[in-house]
Amino acid sequence: ATPVGLLAGTGRASQLGILIRGPEVLEDTRTVDTIVLDKTGTVTAGDLAVTSVTPLNGHDADQVLRLAGAVESHSEHPIAAAITTAAREAAASAGSTVPEVTGFESAAGGGVRGTVQSHTVAAGRSSYISTQVDSGTLTAAEEQQLAAAEAAGATAIWVSVDGRVAGIISLQDTIKESSAPAITEFTRLGLRPILLTGDNAQVATQVAAAVGISAEDVFAGVRPEDKVAKVIELQEAGRVVAMVGDGVNDAPALAQADLGIAMGSGTDVAREAADITVMGSSLGQVVQSVQLSRKTLGIIK
Ligand code: ADP
Ligand code: MG
Repeated sequence: ATPVGLLAGTGRASQLGILIRGPEVLEDTRTVDTIVLDKTGTVTAGDLAVTSVTPLNGHDADQVLRLAGAVESHSEHPIAAAITTAAREAAASAGSTVPEVTGFESAAGGGVRGTVQSHTVAAGRSSYISTQVDSGTLTAAEEQQLAAAEAAGATAIWVSVDGRVAGIISLQDTIKESSAPAITEFTRLGLRPILLTGDNAQVATQVAAAVGISAEDVFAGVRPEDKVAKVIELQEAGRVVAMVGDGVNDAPALAQADLGIAMGSGTDVAREAADITVMGSSLGQVVQSVQLSRKTLGIIK
């Protein structure tokens, strides 16, 4: 491969809204055979909406939403944005506002916590909330509530107040229209698509089925550090791995992958860890990156 041809390729890429860290990246793009896709914000719009609030242990739905919204207002996660918006709307229609939070803490891929109106409030996945409740575990009845929410295909977020479970907030995301055609195209180009997500298995399986990823290629409930482990596992099995993501939690896996691709709509941390950033928010541009590298290197070989 001559530098001149590669430079022409990167020039063409930038016209397509594809930013490439260096000409050599095109070479790596040509050889990938596996494409690992983050779910939220990559395959789906990451534009979640709260669909229901189930209060538990004597709490009130609006209060659960307001307390959770207060803590989530300090988080960048798409789940946080949805809960904050819903909390502000609920508060506004009741003529009040979402309270302030102090001592905010965030556990990547787990949840958030802080002090709201002198109550300790936490919101997050069940394994995280287990660490926030006094008993150190969710009760069988609580687990059942969770199973019911997840069976409906929702992303279910637990809220705890002062060491006790206070409710579940259910959220729904939408799949980007461009995702299914792009995934068909990856397969056609010989790239095996894999879905990797911190979200629950029901949601992940539904999304995978809708976009044409086979059930055996779905890895759900994966913590950020385990996303990297999954990439390493695939590499050790001899695969050349591209990883596509948008979140802070995806950055280590983007750096580990043979080719890291960030969605331009995502976080700065993801873009900094990536070899390629696609300016829009469509996987179609990731397809174009692969096609472009093959064309560029095909021509100049
Ligand atoms: P994804 O892989 O879908 O982008 P993450 O790894 O960021 O997801 O998060 C995994 C899970 O951790 C989420 O599905 C959610 O249950 C929980 N979580 C992460 N951040 C938050 C937050 N700010 N508020 C509530 N829950 C969170
Ligand atoms: Mg994401």
